[in-house]
Amino acid sequence: MKSSNPSRRGIFRSIAAAGLAGLVTPREERAQQAVEKAVRGLPAPKIKDIQVIETAPAGSRLTVVKILTDQDGLYGYGCGTFTQRADLVKPAVERYLKPLLMNHPVDKIEDTWQLCYDSSYWKNGPVLNNAISGVDQALWDIKGRMAKMPVYDLVGGKCREAADAYTHASGGEIQQCVDQAKMFMEQGFRNVRVQVNTPGFEGYGAGGGGRGGTSNVPMVKGLHDGSVFEPLPYIRRALKLFEACRTQLGEEVNLLHDVHERVTPNQAVQFAKDAEKFKLLFLEDALSPEDIAYFRQIKQQCATPIAMGELFNSPHEWTPLMSERLIDYIRVHVSQAGGFTPCRKIAILGEHFGVKTAWHGPGDVSPIGHMANVTLDVVSYNFGVQEYSAFNANTREVFHGVPVLEDGYIWPSTKPGWGIEVDEKAAAKFPFTADGRGPRGPLNGGWGELRRRDGQIIKQ
Ligand SMILES: [Mg+2]
Repeated sequence: MKSSNPSRRGIFRSIAAAGLAGLVTPREERAQQAVEKAVRGLPAPKIKDIQVIETAPAGSRLTVVKILTDQDGLYGYGCGTFTQRADLVKPAVERYLKPLLMNHPVDKIEDTWQLCYDSSYWKNGPVLNNAISGVDQALWDIKGRMAKMPVYDLVGGKCREAADAYTHASGGEIQQCVDQAKMFMEQGFRNVRVQVNTPGFEGYGAGGGGRGGTSNVPMVKGLHDGSVFEPLPYIRRALKLFEACRTQLGEEVNLLHDVHERVTPNQAVQFAKDAEKFKLLFLEDALSPEDIAYFRQIKQQCATPIAMGELFNSPHEWTPLMSERLIDYIRVHVSQAGGFTPCRKIAILGEHFGVKTAWHGPGDVSPIGHMANVTLDVVSYNFGVQEYSAFNANTREVFHGVPVLEDGYIWPSTKPGWGIEVDEKAAAKFPFTADGRGPRGPLNGGWGELRRRDGQIIKQ
């Protein structure tokens, strides 16, 4: 396929020069040389094989789709991570998308996405969407490698240099969380999500302090063997946390908080009203996807900015919320919605309705997926904020070229495609379910149960 980019060779020379200067590793340089050789003057490459790489270098099960073409050295990677049902994505790719796409040209990404989306007839489910995302993002990676451009240049280029990020401060006690937030602010973060445990109760996102916090308050006993979550003690505790944050951290820092859809719709309305005076950057998932009609009540009664969307799979969920201006931030998990192609459309939809983006970016997104997030961030005028997760040493051993954090900003790679090479031998060192590690190990990565005092299961 002929490149339409007149400066392709120049860019390649600069990449080679950067390699000599030590900025590009020999592995990456060899990969780029192979692509240069592969695409010179040839017709559109075709899909020769589709493989699935499964790896859990930081505990979360990550699924990466690799598309190989009929031209040696030309391939691409895409994120298809659905960590709670990870084993199901691989057969969705290998047994359904691979037969559909063999010998399909790699250059028609929109056409390929629509083909995959329509081929199951029933659609918009998380497993199939993640499988499609893996293919979709791999094709964008291939196109970038062919054009010698990062994906952000393929879709028009940057409208900001880097993505303002937020990270997670937490604690068993309020002061622990405040201190951690202070530490992140000193590191350069301007946006911090704050979560705290509720003494005696199960919590969400408060990590460090363990269940029920670090106080000596005994765990509340329910009519079941597990720990208990109750919405009202949680809400009271969260409001005290916000007050302590504003008193000790000041007005400048942007505070965020995730309810994780654990309260009733009416409690969510009241919580959003009570939190209004603390001027959060956003309140996340105050309602579950089943209760989204209640966003109208929140919007009618207070100005607390609302974020929603990490559980969404379908345009039927986000389109009305955005077009009716019932949320302020759309927080879709990019692979869950089907990949870079549909999420670029979601971003543009939001631009027209004043809804900003805040793509889901926790540890259960692969570095490829994080690079897709930050790519959307830098090309979308209506970008809001980007959730940041640090990459540990094992993850960096598997994924070479992860997005870089500096002074609270995340920077995308300037290398072609997503700019990431996967070391498949290293990936194989961190298989799924190696030893059933952690509480979710025996559940094959799935989540367990969360109950109220009387034994009722609640959303988590
Ligand atoms: Mg969340």
